[in-house]
Amino acid sequence: RPEVSPDAQESELAIEGALRPTSLADFVGQPKVRSQLQLLLDAAGMQQRPADHILLSGPPGLGKTTLAMIVAHESGRPLRLSSGPAIQHAGDLAALLSSLTPGEVLFIDEVHRMARSAEEMLYLAMEDFRIDIMVGKGAGATSIPLDLAPFTLVGATTRAGLLPNPLRDRFGFTGHLEYYDPADLERVISRSADMLGVALPPVARGEIARRSRGTPRIANRLLRRVRDFVLVHDRPADLDAVSAALELYDVDEIGLDRLDRAVLDALVRRFGGGPVGLSTLAVAVGEEAETVESVVEPYLVRIGFLGRTPRGRIATPAAYAHLGAPHAENALR
Ligand code: ADP
Repeated sequence: RPEVSPDAQESELAIEGALRPTSLADFVGQPKVRSQLQLLLDAAGMQQRPADHILLSGPPGLGKTTLAMIVAHESGRPLRLSSGPAIQHAGDLAALLSSLTPGEVLFIDEVHRMARSAEEMLYLAMEDFRIDIMVGKGAGATSIPLDLAPFTLVGATTRAGLLPNPLRDRFGFTGHLEYYDPADLERVISRSADMLGVALPPVARGEIARRSRGTPRIANRLLRRVRDFVLVHDRPADLDAVSAALELYDVDEIGLDRLDRAVLDALVRRFGGGPVGLSTLAVAVGEEAETVESVVEPYLVRIGFLGRTPRGRIATPAAYAHLGAPHAENALR
């Protein structure tokens, strides 16, 4: 019986880690955010102080964690990684903050999912590097102030709009990451292919780039699947191999995955093209509303397949065309 190594998942993650660029210069694309961050880091470096707090927003896989690591690396400071869902009580955050060393970079992924009580503690910590710890209950309760080492918070969120204003306002800089164009993704793929030792002709790189949903993480993942495919089938990594491998993994010719197509399909075939509410749509495809909203929809909106209207989500004629479904308006004519 063939055995799957328990380390398989871990080594996939290790590869993803190894493919991360460690300097701003190696970070592909996003010229605006890159130069804004460069200025922020240069200024902090000249004044020998921790950089201002940084908020990074954008869909998953566009490089938020990578940028946090780069901020720490380029300013020569240690990095601590945490996430909103891991901070369910103010006490979790107090423990984290009070253990930071001076100048440390604290990355909080999905910062919008932190507990409300922790959020309030974070306001003061970000502003004054101080927290108040509540001791006791009721009339006898007192708060003990605790000074913190100065730190740089890098928060990541899939949508900056999900953050309460007081928290958003305390970041000195907000960078919005956009989907990558195929030329930039091709550069990501070339770099990764070199590192993984996969010989990939330019057409094959271009094809993976075109089908990566504007997302470096997906580009790297598809590249690894193509690498597996050519390894197992002992054939060159040409255009045919790329097409066959991506078909096997349900990535369609424009890069939509199964969930993207399920959402479009439900919208068009079950709800007559909309408008339909987000939660209804999410239930129809058996997914969390947040996933549909922050992972699926932004890309479908970006390629002009889905519209968000005050009355709900609607499918565009381009979506009908892609699914090969007759468009209702056309059918009526
Ligand atoms: P996020 O935190 O936004 O979900 P990550 O920073 O984890 O995304 O990036 C996912 C993967 O994509 C990483 O392995 C990284 O190597 C790669 N990646 C992301 N952005 C870039 C980029 N601009 N250049 C090169 N590789 C990138």
